[in-house]
Amino acid sequence: MASPKTVAICDSCWDKYWHGRVPYRVRSRPEETCDFCKQTTHSGIYVRRKKDALRMGEALRMPESPCTSCGKILDAANNISEDGTGKPDPGDATVCLMCGHIMVFDDNLRLRDPTAAEQENFAGDKRLLTIQEARGRVMKDKTNENPDR
Ligand SMILES: [Zn+2]
Ligand SMILES: [Zn+2]
Repeated sequence: MASPKTVAICDSCWDKYWHGRVPYRVRSRPEETCDFCKQTTHSGIYVRRKKDALRMGEALRMPESPCTSCGKILDAANNISEDGTGKPDPGDATVCLMCGHIMVFDDNLRLRDPTAAEQENFAGDKRLLTIQEARGRVMKDKTNENPDR
């Protein structure tokens, strides 16, 4: 799923991420959408997305949906993607921040339990491991803030 692929990048994003490096530009410069800022660009620069460039995205609003395990109403998802801007798609996985339960977005972006086949796919999915690590940190912070809980 998150295999490395070549994506277009605009000049300003190139400067931001590959600071000071001289990009290789293709000779014909078709109109492309910068994969980082989603602006149209004719930069002619393409980069390979690295698998290990994962980071925690912004918390995204989504329809309220209870965790299928602990019942906590979840109305935002921290989407883990390679650029941190991706929105959840049906079939994408997310993790309950309360209990760590892995769930899948259905066609309406509500949460459902993963199928057995999906569960197998998720085992070892780097993105999910990233979320679960992040969850561990968040929950630890919460505990420190609020020792009575
Ligand atoms: Zn850009
Ligand atoms: Zn939960």
